[in-house]
Amino acid sequence: MDHRFQDQQYRLSYFQQEVAVICSVCTKKATAKADYEAQKVRLTCTSCGHHREVSTCRSAFGMNAHYITAAHVYLDLPLWYETSFKNEIFWAYNEAHLLYLEQYIIAKLREHKDRTHFTFLEKLPKFYHDSKNREALLKIISKLKNKK
Ligand SMILES: [Zn+2]
Repeated sequence: MDHRFQDQQYRLSYFQQEVAVICSVCTKKATAKADYEAQKVRLTCTSCGHHREVSTCRSAFGMNAHYITAAHVYLDLPLWYETSFKNEIFWAYNEAHLLYLEQYIIAKLREHKDRTHFTFLEKLPKFYHDSKNREALLKIISKLKNKK
């Protein structure tokens, strides 16, 4: 197995458009999908059939505005891939994000093509980078991957 990790320099925004959430009706895994151009966010649960749509328009600081953030925020739903780790929270927006973090943690050697851009991997809390935590984090990720 190749333990080198090619940082694809994704920004967190790359993963935020389609977010795995806990269904507000059946508590199974549902999907929140944002369409920023249409200014709509759609919740779909394949387990119970629940779905609803909300606008990306939100009031903040006394003004109504369309703003771009992670899809689950508009719906006020908790993330599906979230768990506590020591005194921290480990989370991922979706499976691709989770796998990306897994690849990152597995990697013993990190490669950076271009250091001028700071990707979210570099901004992650310290516990992600600590080699002491590597095995425990991988266990958490594997648990989250199998979460039903
Ligand atoms: Zn549901």
